[in-house]
Amino acid sequence: MVYMDYNATTPCDKRVVDEMVPYFSEQFGNPSSIYRLARDAKKAVEKARENLAKLLDCKPEEVFFTSCGTEADNWAIIGTAFGMREKGRHIITSSIEHHAVLHTCKFLEKMGYEITYLPVDRYGIVDIEILKKSIRKDTILVSIMAANNEIGTIQPIKEIAQIVKEKGVLFHTDAVQVVGKLPFSVKQLGLDMLSLSGHKFYGPKGVGALYVKKGVKLIPFIYGGGQERKKRAGTENVAGIVGIGKAAEIAISEMTEEGEKIRPLRDKLEEGIKQKIPEIIINGHPEKRLYNTLNLCIRAVEGEAILLHLDFEGICASSGSACTSGSLEPSHVLVAIGVPDILLHSSLRLSLGKHNTEDDVDKVLEVLPGIAEKLRKMSPFWGKK
Ligand code: PLP
Repeated sequence: MVYMDYNATTPCDKRVVDEMVPYFSEQFGNPSSIYRLARDAKKAVEKARENLAKLLDCKPEEVFFTSCGTEADNWAIIGTAFGMREKGRHIITSSIEHHAVLHTCKFLEKMGYEITYLPVDRYGIVDIEILKKSIRKDTILVSIMAANNEIGTIQPIKEIAQIVKEKGVLFHTDAVQVVGKLPFSVKQLGLDMLSLSGHKFYGPKGVGALYVKKGVKLIPFIYGGGQERKKRAGTENVAGIVGIGKAAEIAISEMTEEGEKIRPLRDKLEEGIKQKIPEIIINGHPEKRLYNTLNLCIRAVEGEAILLHLDFEGICASSGSACTSGSLEPSHVLVAIGVPDILLHSSLRLSLGKHNTEDDVDKVLEVLPGIAEKLRKMSPFWGKK
């Protein structure tokens, strides 16, 4: 099998699994209890918090564990909206956010909030001038993703954070696709809130975190017990938290090396596809792009059909974000960057990771051109312009 869908999810690192296993049936204490067994579980949770804090360059008490990246996004946005409704009801985001942000904003629209969806250029970069003009007296939050999951484009987060801060508005970034891939210092970037997710950087699924800068008053999102310093109730997913902590520790020491290994593979794949398949377009920024991501449109070919043929060859890829695959809606990201209608259903995303090899790239380059040619022969659009 060739797995090239690392932006959808990554396999859990064996070292992560080994670290987690004892916390299911041996070290199973509830961190809120007072006996030793529980204290050990509590210690493990706090060690994981320290690891994440190191990865983000923040204080451990600024890290709050959640059930996933989606929950962290929901909390940052809804928590700010509800907590600051007396100050204002206007939020700014971008048109290419993950649905974890966009659908949350849609919910808030129904609750009477006003949302501005910033346009992006053809590479997916947010228009800074429009951002500046969009910030109003009643703006309470700007939420812009650090890197896009579909096309990999990386936003100028430092510049955006500075503009937002100068206006006295809170800034949140969905960094689910960046954390663990690139060094990302919340301090240097000047962030107020940041969402991340364990399963995108070789940790377990079902655990994420929200960074909340000290002094930012975010109301709780889940009510109940006093866990997570009374901000996020619910008995901790101790094994999951231990896992994300271990994944953070591994990322700190290995991510730079991994990037250096993955980027040339992605570049070789991109060059090979350009040479072997005519009439394709590459989506996303040529340089300001995640080193593992390749998104392209192959004219006159259905993305879903390519996926089925690739699957038949043992290759796992995606035609959009994992969450939109299976629906017939075109990708909102491709629409926002201005991909022509005729190409909207022809996209393919190949996202690489640490287990990919030259052989994997060669295999895709061997089978993909044939698949494209075969499907094009059957297409009523091929040959027509
Ligand atoms: N934000 C982005 C940019 C993502 O890519 C994803 C997952 O694909 C999420 C949020 C949601 O994260 P999770 O799967 O942990 O809920």
